[in-house]
Amino acid sequence: MRYEYAQKPKRCPVCKGSRIAEILWGLPNETPKLKADVKAGRIVFGGCIVSDDDPVWKCVSCNAQFHRKHDDFMEYCVYTIRHSHDIKTAYNKGGKGKFTENRPWTTAEKIFMKAKKAGSIFPIVFGYAERIHKVKYWARVTDIKISIGKDGKKNTTYSFDRLSRIPDKRYIKDLVLKSTRKTISPGFIRPLAVCITPDYILQLSKAQAHWRY
Ligand SMILES: [Zn+2]
Repeated sequence: MRYEYAQKPKRCPVCKGSRIAEILWGLPNETPKLKADVKAGRIVFGGCIVSDDDPVWKCVSCNAQFHRKHDDFMEYCVYTIRHSHDIKTAYNKGGKGKFTENRPWTTAEKIFMKAKKAGSIFPIVFGYAERIHKVKYWARVTDIKISIGKDGKKNTTYSFDRLSRIPDKRYIKDLVLKSTRKTISPGFIRPLAVCITPDYILQLSKAQAHWRY
């Protein structure tokens, strides 16, 4: 029997025990906090061989193991650029943000509505506006609203949370456009595009859900 939970379960489904530990995989640094957590039964070690599908919690009483239920992602993501200052400010405020752009994000809005209905994540990936080169951050879109501004033109306000760094070198030119199924050519990098959600976002999402030491 495989047990999956979005968060650490309060009780073990097998023995009804309430002592559930987080499994720490790999070879962590032995900090005083880690030692204390291990002693208290909050952390157990999983071993140093890590796979894509390891359990993340364990019942301390009966050793039953539990997997994390992963989020579903939309096939498409929205790529845009922002000045690094705006992105870093949102990151330092806990990863939530709200920005307005002077153009209607019509396709992105439609995908967001579908994602909302399906309970799936519609990711947004960011590059730095002052140096359009790498994909630096990603986040979960939590709202997209198109409205008409004072100048009579349509604009878009979008909100997001879970803003996370993309640690590896990932390039905007490698994003695959929804419209053509081809990568963005380096000479034609635009400030906005709907792209195929890159696999590395899914991988990062899983990794970033783990306990960090
Ligand atoms: Zn148990």
